[in-house]
Amino acid sequence: MKKIIFSATFALAITASFSLAQVSADRQATITPDAVLTKLMKGNARFAVNSPSIQSVPTRREISAKGQFPKAVILSCLDSRVPVEQVFDVGIGDVFVGRVAGNIEDNDQLGSMEFATKLAGAKLVMVLGHTACGAVAGSVDNARLGHLTGILKKIRPAVNVVKKNSPDIKPVGSNGEFVDKVAEENVRCTVKNIRHQSPILAELEKSGQIKIVGGMYDLKSGRVTLVK
Ligand SMILES: [Zn+2]
Repeated sequence: MKKIIFSATFALAITASFSLAQVSADRQATITPDAVLTKLMKGNARFAVNSPSIQSVPTRREISAKGQFPKAVILSCLDSRVPVEQVFDVGIGDVFVGRVAGNIEDNDQLGSMEFATKLAGAKLVMVLGHTACGAVAGSVDNARLGHLTGILKKIRPAVNVVKKNSPDIKPVGSNGEFVDKVAEENVRCTVKNIRHQSPILAELEKSGQIKIVGGMYDLKSGRVTLVK
């Protein structure tokens, strides 16, 4: 019952009479998950060479106010140096962005992703980690601070995997090489956890309606690399 109410409310919200918004709705419905990924990666390539091409903010604001048809949902770290829309050269209304220190999933993020895909039509789920992540470094060092402690604990499985697989790399938060390896592994873990913890997202992916991928953003180069 709840789901029906949600769907109806959402349908009302997205049924826009504005013609450009309708075009966007069609585009969202027909674009494939792979095509969305390609668009994002091309946008990132433009960003990395300082050649963005997005429409002006006032134009986008006017169009998107009539309805939203984002094609991807991106779970990013909180880090101020990862401006997600800029990183992929997308504008207002193009992507949903969920942010939490360490880009880890929790029930709220999963619910948001289920909304973004199942109800709002996004075709791609991307978990975006980044180099020199302070949350990851804190987890490596077992840092403790209020509510942050619980977040950092969720990154520990990735710390343990890298410790095991790379015994020659010093496992401390001040070691950038180790921290970046953990950040990448943490993206892998989060993608796996999303599939495991959300039957809705897993089913959407299995049926080919969405794709769930991981990426690593390099703070220095501006490049996103897909995590295999
Ligand atoms: Zn971070």
